[in-house]
Amino acid sequence: MGKKYVYRFSEGNREMRELLGGKGANLAEMTRAGLPVPPGFTITTEACNAYHEMGKVLPEGLMEEVDTALTLLEKEIGKEFGNAENPLLVSVRSGAAFSMPGMMDTILNLGLNDETVEGLAKLTGNPRFAYDSYRRFIQMFSDVVLGLDEYLFEEVIRNRKEAKGVKHDPDLKASDWQEVIYQFKEIVEKEIKKPFPQDPAEQLRLAIQAVFDSWNNQRAIVYRKIHKISDSLGTAVNIQSMVFGNMGNDSGTGVAFTRNPSTGEKELYGEFLINAQGEDVVAGIRTPQPISKLKELLPGVYRQFEEISHQLERHYQDMQDIEFTVERGKLFILQTRNGKRTAQAAVKIAVHMVHEGLITKENALLRVDPDQLNQLLHRRVDDRQALQVLVKGLPASPGAATGKVVFDADEAEEMAKQGMKVILVRPETTPEDIHGIVASQAVVTSRGGMTSHAAVVARGMGKPCIAGCEEMKIDLNKKEFQVGSIVVKQGEIISVDGGAGNVMLGEVPLIDPVLSDEFSELLGWADQYRTLGVRANADTPVDARKSREFGAEGIGLCRTEHMFLAPDRVPVVQEMILAETMEERQKALSKLLPMQQGDFYEILKEMAGLPVTIRLLDPPLHEFLPNLEDLLLEVDRLRRAPETDKILLREKEDLLRKVKSMHEMNPMLGLRGCRLGIMHPEIYAMQVEAIFNAAFQLKEEGIPTEPEIMLPLVGHVNELSLLRKMVDETYARVKEKHVGEIRYTVGTMIEIPRAALTADQIAREADFFSFGTNDLTQTTFGFSRDDAEGKFLQYYLDHKVLPENPFIVLDREGVGKLVETGVKLGRSVKDGLKTGICGEHGGEKSSIEFCHLTQLNYVSCSPYRVPLARLAAAQAALRHGAAKEALKESVVH
Ligand code: ADP
Ligand code: MG
Ligand code: MG
Repeated sequence: MGKKYVYRFSEGNREMRELLGGKGANLAEMTRAGLPVPPGFTITTEACNAYHEMGKVLPEGLMEEVDTALTLLEKEIGKEFGNAENPLLVSVRSGAAFSMPGMMDTILNLGLNDETVEGLAKLTGNPRFAYDSYRRFIQMFSDVVLGLDEYLFEEVIRNRKEAKGVKHDPDLKASDWQEVIYQFKEIVEKEIKKPFPQDPAEQLRLAIQAVFDSWNNQRAIVYRKIHKISDSLGTAVNIQSMVFGNMGNDSGTGVAFTRNPSTGEKELYGEFLINAQGEDVVAGIRTPQPISKLKELLPGVYRQFEEISHQLERHYQDMQDIEFTVERGKLFILQTRNGKRTAQAAVKIAVHMVHEGLITKENALLRVDPDQLNQLLHRRVDDRQALQVLVKGLPASPGAATGKVVFDADEAEEMAKQGMKVILVRPETTPEDIHGIVASQAVVTSRGGMTSHAAVVARGMGKPCIAGCEEMKIDLNKKEFQVGSIVVKQGEIISVDGGAGNVMLGEVPLIDPVLSDEFSELLGWADQYRTLGVRANADTPVDARKSREFGAEGIGLCRTEHMFLAPDRVPVVQEMILAETMEERQKALSKLLPMQQGDFYEILKEMAGLPVTIRLLDPPLHEFLPNLEDLLLEVDRLRRAPETDKILLREKEDLLRKVKSMHEMNPMLGLRGCRLGIMHPEIYAMQVEAIFNAAFQLKEEGIPTEPEIMLPLVGHVNELSLLRKMVDETYARVKEKHVGEIRYTVGTMIEIPRAALTADQIAREADFFSFGTNDLTQTTFGFSRDDAEGKFLQYYLDHKVLPENPFIVLDREGVGKLVETGVKLGRSVKDGLKTGICGEHGGEKSSIEFCHLTQLNYVSCSPYRVPLARLAAAQAALRHGAAKEALKESVVH
């Protein structure tokens, strides 16, 4: 006895979606619940897999099982497949475990031929309906099974309507359809050199094979790849007796959602067409009517449908997307599934369903995809409008903006000061453009990738950014860019959609982000369940405030380099770097001290009472100096100029020498992070002094602070001991000038494998660890992120050399192992050592789950990702609560 390949609807249920596909499982479930579902049966996904394994041969016994099921169906309906007097007609529908739009289209009215169509006409007394059904069948079968061009058939219908002077299909008469059918059959015969198959058994076999084959068509393969659906699942085939929505004005077909899928409002939301079949509603041949209209036209049917939709929602405990057909006043349900919805609707529906007592808070929390929340936290393009896209780039940072094009950071700042909204357009940006980015609504670059300077900075600030718009030719001299033949000059208005990577001419309507009541409520529940803390990466008081607003419990990474890049500071910073003597350097540092102190004062004040991890200067100093190539060109130009300003030339030559002397082969691995702090202790000492001054100042104002001083890029414990000593000594010095004490801690980033592997030594000198997983991923893989993403990472992903981009989803096996090791070793010498991560991974759901499992204390992410992280942390706790307990025990014992 072989495998069972065929299940009647009455034999299945919703749990069997892997075997019967989603559609089949739900048809079975509805049948069992007693809903009016036209009877039928499902061929399993296993049959599909067997078919492919044997090289496209129908598995043995399958067609016999189909025959048996068909005979039972005939008995149930009282009609006979292929019987000229009383024909049974069926639909053949594909359906995989996951809904897949790339799969085969459904065939309706199978079983019709030149004889049965006459029987149908007589039986129903409705020849127009019978011929309409037959022509639909030939059309669909020819398209889907025989692979003929749809256009050939549509043309025949169009010509017919023209000849008759009518606009819509239902206006054609029986005799018109007869003529159309005649021509259809001629087309088929001409194209396939055989007549249209007349034997219903053959029609059915061919249709089943076509569904199996469609599992491996190009569309389906691509769809599976994008959505990470396994190729080995296979599709089921549903064979279902037909019901007819095209039998007159008391018939029709439609689709409806049990709640509004766009807003989440509790209302039936859908469309239907009177006197129509199958896909007519979505095909756009006639404009459908809103479902509310059905209430007027067929009130009894409407009431019944409303009841069923409530019943289905209660049964599935989720918003449903339902297909229905009305045949001469009788309602049939043809499909139900969980409806797709916008983020806004997802949140609202989940929260409302808790209030309605339909689901638990836990369900609600698990049901909203954290990734989707991004849509809610940025201004966004109103995508209900038709958009004219000028050029596409990489969607580097989501959100939308409209503003005047500007090509220079200084000018951007100037225009913003005058109250204009601007969008900075550059070939690429550098740290020197930062004030221009701050002043702009969004950034567009023609070069660079998802991690270019512009992209990283914009994401950090929650501003939209499109990178790598390669078709955009920027002419900085003329202050214009060109796409094809269209030229856009500075000052002209463009709009960008950073989530889609679209640049549009002119202004497009935007919608503001709304933290709806439901959203806040859901996040409140998340906080009850999560055990992982959520902090934000914030460098400015504005970001700090945003983070608090979004529920951050502290700052996990406050980078200080951006503070060095404010336009009024760059000259002082350069003075400090270029100083020839210690005296000169101290002079520059003493100018910087009050500025830094002001920064820390503002941020610590904003975060009063919450911890703020401040990382001392990390990037190599030459990042604050002009670019070497630019300088070379400038010096060259000055040297050649007939009347050169000698003093200026000298200055530039000095600068060039210094820049050359600081040039590094590989700055990422050069003099930066704590190495800088050791080689130039006076810089870190200034920063630490500024932090303590600010903290004392706030203390005197009665505002509590919790500074955590973080030393970057430590690889050896000695680096940390040296610097820790500097911090403590500086504190002692500052304390002298004030009353009382400040509570502070000193910790380190773990972003070099050696640090993770020697975390027990390092923990002796550290009060906390913060895993800098951006750099840790680079140093673990030996990839430089920009080079990897620009050159080979995409290939790696396409060819499954790597399963995910490790800069987006934390690589648990490698980088994760180092994090785990770091935590274990660290806590082995210091019980309860505080640990967190502050890479971009802190805002990504799978990485957050990993942090939960590894028992970190917190994740830190960009302010705009804080709500997402709160939800993801709650989901991790709900999914792995038990796992976490177990882990705890294994640590204890
Ligand atoms: P899809 O997965 O593309 O929605 P379906 O298999 O659901 O494809 O069917 C396409 C259309 O045909 C839908 O409108 C559906 O309601 C209709 N349909 C499918 N089977 C039948 C049937 N037995 N009787 C009447 N209409 C049907
Ligand atoms: Mg459907
Ligand atoms: Mg780093």
